[in-house]
Amino acid sequence: MDLHEYQAKELFRAAGMAVNPGEVADDPAAVRALAGKYGGRVVVKAQVHSGGRGKAGGVKLAAGADEAALHAGAILGMEIRGLTVRRVLVSPTEDIATEAYAGILVDREGQCPVLMVSAEGGVDIEEVAETNPEAIHKLRVDPRYGLMPHQAWELATRLYSDPALARQAARILTQLYAAFTGNGASMAEINPLISTGTGEVKAIDAKVSIDDNELFRRPAVAALRDPDSESEADAKARAAGLSFVKLEGNVGCCVNGAGLAMATMDLVKYYGGEPANFLDIGGSSNPDKVVAALEIITADPGVKVILFNIFGGITRCDDVARGIVEAVGRLEFGVPLVIRLTGTNEERAREILADAGLAAVASMDEVVREAVRRAG
Ligand code: GDP
Ligand code: MN
Repeated sequence: MDLHEYQAKELFRAAGMAVNPGEVADDPAAVRALAGKYGGRVVVKAQVHSGGRGKAGGVKLAAGADEAALHAGAILGMEIRGLTVRRVLVSPTEDIATEAYAGILVDREGQCPVLMVSAEGGVDIEEVAETNPEAIHKLRVDPRYGLMPHQAWELATRLYSDPALARQAARILTQLYAAFTGNGASMAEINPLISTGTGEVKAIDAKVSIDDNELFRRPAVAALRDPDSESEADAKARAAGLSFVKLEGNVGCCVNGAGLAMATMDLVKYYGGEPANFLDIGGSSNPDKVVAALEIITADPGVKVILFNIFGGITRCDDVARGIVEAVGRLEFGVPLVIRLTGTNEERAREILADAGLAAVASMDEVVREAVRRAG
């Protein structure tokens, strides 16, 4: 689950971090009032789940309250990477001397958090990683001991040669690590971490993603979910208990089990097709889930064919077949269905499908080839 910048900053502040002040608003008049309160010179920033807002025109400096309201009018309602801006964050303008980067991710290979810093902040860190990888310093943190003071200091000196600035940065890295582990994050990032003309180090941007598996035991963090920022398909999938990821292809996939779903997508690619989604209907036997899955898949105008790949273990093929027949009766979709069912109760499933004029095959190879052919 991604957080907005203003929410991520709240978590950072709660960890004691030096973060620039700011408040959110959803209309230009409120932005004008906030700008007045902050003395006129402010930065107005789009609150959407996307990086690169600056480049997209979603971060604007204003010299006065009227200009701030004008910028808010332009930014509110604008689309950044397909996401509509509904709120802006207003902060007093900072006098920036340098921009650095600090971030924590999960290092899957090392099975631990990895802390990364670079004196080349402000820009895309991916870009730095490509063009100038030695400018990024990484440290794997042993989660049993956490970030040790000497480690934080060592990284901080990579950012600032001035010890007064490095001391502040070391504190911020420690607080970033605490915010990361304390909130069940899978990613926490400050870009840019600035130093000011008066020698202060602080975070002026914040990005945090929470590990979805941490949410059940962190209700306060879970409550930060912004339903407006979710696509309709994502919201629907979550409500129905389906694992769904939208992709760019045209073969709609409906599969039970994450592993089989991955294998199905691989096979679609192998035969020259492009999956439109990852969708795992899970191991349960619930026709309603199948209906919800089909609703989600068919709502995507890019889908040219729907591929069912069901391996009946705990999932019973007859239940899935019932779900398919029910969905076909309830929904109007103008794309073909190709179905592969095998395993528990597959004979019964075939009868149910045949009664509704549908057929199923038993081979995964066959059904995927057919789906790719039908998708054109
Ligand atoms: P992002 O583009 O989505 O990462 O948004 P950021 O919050 O990182 O803002 C983009 C850029 O705007 C920063 O790298 C800064 O260069 C600039 N910026 C943001 N806030 C201020 C500010 O208060 N003063 C100045 N001078 N520049 C700012
Ligand atoms: Mn940024």
